[in-house]
Amino acid sequence: MEVSFAGKRALVTGAGKGIGRATALALARCGAKVTAVTRTQADLNTLVQECASITPLCVDLADWGATEATLQNLGPIDLLVNNAACASLQPFLDVTPDQFDQSFSVNVKAVLHVSQIVARGMKARGSGGSIVNVSSQASQCALRDHTVYCATKGALDMLTKVMALELGPHQIRVNSVNPTVVMTEMGRLGWSDPEKAKSMTSRIPLGRFAEVEDVVNSILFLLSDKSNMTNGVTLPVDGGFLAC
Ligand code: NDP
Repeated sequence: MEVSFAGKRALVTGAGKGIGRATALALARCGAKVTAVTRTQADLNTLVQECASITPLCVDLADWGATEATLQNLGPIDLLVNNAACASLQPFLDVTPDQFDQSFSVNVKAVLHVSQIVARGMKARGSGGSIVNVSSQASQCALRDHTVYCATKGALDMLTKVMALELGPHQIRVNSVNPTVVMTEMGRLGWSDPEKAKSMTSRIPLGRFAEVEDVVNSILFLLSDKSNMTNGVTLPVDGGFLAC
């Protein structure tokens, strides 16, 4: 299946590392004009070295005011990938208010905020658009020590559905991808211990974690006009984990 984003303008958050970085590069390869947002300048520097057509923006998305200021001159965007997130693992009884607030600020509130900014422009131009939120299998299945992360991703799935409901009439589609573990920096945090990894892969019918490219391909599909009638779905990219 050939996908082209020639003439489209895309914004990817959390584009410094992992899934977000690979998504930004894939979109650029498919012809999109990509703006990459993340909070570590060094990552943006290497990203632009790798692909000179990418426009870098450095901001901590947990900071509402700084995000507003950074994105104010963004210009028109057709495709948005809300990918940035943080995961700090702790047992339920040890969760602190700071960990809770930080995670909800990035994983949920910033998605709302960036989407508002982008969708207002899409609505005003009447051009429609496609938004993909990067959620997780953790939105629908309890994982030990993932209290706050699971809660943020559960909230994100409902945010996706309400956005799909309200933005649909403006021809703005909103969907999520819900991957199983991917061995990025975030994935290694929770799953590099082989015993722990085995306890997860043994519950995945395909018997393996997802690769970054597996997630990127699903994001590209949902962004593209190949999924023109798909709106408000939470698409597992989990080898069947959530089906069992
Ligand atoms: P990484 O930790 O590898 O990359 C996350 C990126 O987001 C980094 O560039 C990071 O920047 C950026 N980011 C984090 N917080 C902020 C912030 N406050 N402001 C701006 N940028 C920020 O994660 P992954 O690539 O693994 O994860 C990408 C998405 O996929 C996330 O939504 C995650 O929840 C989801 N996911 C991941 C899974 C996995 O196993 N890896 C499984 C299921 C879902 P910096 O490094 O500078 O903090």
